[in-house]
Amino acid sequence: MRKPIIAGNWKMHKTIKEAVEFVNEVKDKINNTDVEAVICAPFTMLTELKKATEGTNIKLAAQNMHFEENGAFTGEVSPLMLKEIGIDYVVIGHSERRQYFNETDETVNKKTLKAIEHNIMPIVCVGETLEERETDKTKDVVKVQVEEAFKSVSSEDAKKVVIAYEPVWAIGTGKTASSKDANDVIGYIREVIKNIYSEDVSEEVRIQYGGSVKPSNVEEIMNEDDIDGALVGGASLNPADYVELVNF
Ligand code: PEP
Repeated sequence: MRKPIIAGNWKMHKTIKEAVEFVNEVKDKINNTDVEAVICAPFTMLTELKKATEGTNIKLAAQNMHFEENGAFTGEVSPLMLKEIGIDYVVIGHSERRQYFNETDETVNKKTLKAIEHNIMPIVCVGETLEERETDKTKDVVKVQVEEAFKSVSSEDAKKVVIAYEPVWAIGTGKTASSKDANDVIGYIREVIKNIYSEDVSEEVRIQYGGSVKPSNVEEIMNEDDIDGALVGGASLNPADYVELVNF
């Protein structure tokens, strides 16, 4: 049985004060123990959020990580640094990082391997652009992204990786893939995992959908068989919406 994971991706929003207030507001209202609730927050607030989420059901994720443990990489944050403050998850290869910060399939793979090595669970993002969708390349694109991300990942470790299928054209645009379309692509991603590893692994890997998920559409999305959660940007910034998303 795969435990769904609802993760709020705050992107570059909130101060430490606002973030702690958010957690204090939502922590006693989250009552759905059938899902894992995660907040993907900017680096600066992770330490304070770790304290604020102590004893709650909320887990924390970083939004990025470097693939080296230390060195001359100005501005980067390493897996050791995230581990030191008790971070559970890290988002890897979000489309905004692929688009604006030169994240490639190769760096996504390096980061995935490093995160696993340090026992930080990767949330690996894949998804097609609008042009790719319109030219019927969605499945080819996500296949390559998944195959590259999982290179050299053992089958035992592969089971721990979360995949977020996020069509780029649906992120922050208000456009959502229909739940059937999202389930279809996610089912295909499961096939890709099965072909790399085995049925057993493909049945354990959790695959989220992301792209303009909000309280009003989360239930429909979560009702699809192959969809194991959501990665939510905009709607996760509001405490009441975050509670509704997790308690859907
Ligand atoms: C995201 O940030 O991963 C995302 C899906 O954003 P939004 O929900 O705002 O589309």
